[in-house]
Amino acid sequence: MAITNKADLFRKLPSIDELLRRPELLPFVERDGHPAVTAAAREVLGTLREAIASGSLDEAAVEIAVANLNDVIERHLTQSLSYSLRPVINATGVILHTNLGRAPLSESALQHIRDTATGYSNLEFDLDRGERGKRDVHVDRLFARLLQPYAPESQRLASIVVNNNAAAVMIALNTLAEGGEVIVSRGELVEIGGSFRIPDVMAKSNATLREVGTTNRTRLVDYEQAITERTRLLLRVHRSNFSIVGFTEQPSLEELVALGQRRNIPVMEDLGSGAFFDLRHVGIHNEPGVGDSLRAGVDVVTFSGDKLLGGPQAGIISGRHDLVSRIRKNPLFRALRVDKLIYAALEATLLSYVKADFGAIPTIHMMQLSKETITERADRLARQLRLAGFFAELRDGESIIGGGAAPSAAIPTTLLTITCDRTTPDELSSHLRHYTTPIIARVEEDRLVLDLRTVHPDHDLTILAALKGC
Ligand SMILES: *Cc1c(COP(=O)(O)O)cnc(C)c1O
Repeated sequence: MAITNKADLFRKLPSIDELLRRPELLPFVERDGHPAVTAAAREVLGTLREAIASGSLDEAAVEIAVANLNDVIERHLTQSLSYSLRPVINATGVILHTNLGRAPLSESALQHIRDTATGYSNLEFDLDRGERGKRDVHVDRLFARLLQPYAPESQRLASIVVNNNAAAVMIALNTLAEGGEVIVSRGELVEIGGSFRIPDVMAKSNATLREVGTTNRTRLVDYEQAITERTRLLLRVHRSNFSIVGFTEQPSLEELVALGQRRNIPVMEDLGSGAFFDLRHVGIHNEPGVGDSLRAGVDVVTFSGDKLLGGPQAGIISGRHDLVSRIRKNPLFRALRVDKLIYAALEATLLSYVKADFGAIPTIHMMQLSKETITERADRLARQLRLAGFFAELRDGESIIGGGAAPSAAIPTTLLTITCDRTTPDELSSHLRHYTTPIIARVEEDRLVLDLRTVHPDHDLTILAALKGC
């Protein structure tokens, strides 16, 4: 009896062919193609069949479902063909948020990507000589202009680019220290988010880690006493995501360099963030720049393209020409090299630095925004939100540089805190995350907290519209 019933219910479902001939679905076939519409129709029918088979639909429910098939298929189609990687609005105030894609690119970087990637480019073609060239030249010349002034006299610099800074550290260690030892302070054996651990990277590069000192104190003699004929490199690693405070000691970079020179061992520094912009201009005093390392005499520096530099994901190796050339010749370079999109974005970003047009770089622009500007915007938004029935208050807070700048690197800001009778802060936050353009905010002390420093001013109204829909 039940089986006959189900068979009757199944017969109420149209076939795929019938569905695809429906005039209402033809525009979708036209727009999204026959295969995509067929797949959507199959999935929707399949789900209905499963529901009938499990006995969870009666005759009336099946009839309603059949009447709504066109709409359901359209919704399914739209969802399955929409991008998974989408723009979001970052209202967290963390400027270099690794989960949100780190540095947004400048207009000129985007334009340069478009111009050079739409068609062909001279990526590896020397236009003067009409023969094969090297992709390195496009940015090496700009790195040289920006960094050469910091290098000790008579030292020629070179820079190369790989996939990210983790790759930069790995290929540098592998080239300069394979089969030998690298001396590192125990206070610098860091793990960066996403499981980049110095000891693991070291092992993969076939170099042996020689730890010296203690977590909080390492002296120059610790390095000195650890040097043997197997020592290939003295490594300094920037403590990107933590600080050691209290009873601490660490030789200066200059002292380490002097030791390296005395014993003829290169010094490498993994800077992580690697600023090209003097962060003292935005009130941050403890974050060393790439220039500072080179001025101290470090032989090889590695840093990310998409952290404080404000460019695309990349790992940059800058330093003594002879050492960088050796790294360039490592077969791993071919495996870790970056493509034309990255070179285009990097070249445009570096040109902004050459022109001292720092404000053109979105991350620097955000750091430079004054607290007054942010307060004004937050205040305007707060008034509009109050009219819409929310409780909105301004509060002093801090925007975080993030992305492996000094953990204490923060800029004073004004936070907008929001609560509402109808909805909990977590529900508000979830509602914002599911908005057309998802909005990412924090929840703290039972309030929704927004920092407009990382929000494009055009998006203030988007936030208002999203909250009004709660
Ligand atoms: C961020 C960071 C890395 C990893 O850089 P990616 O570009 O993310 O690969 C390595 N070392 C330090 C010190 C860092 O801060």
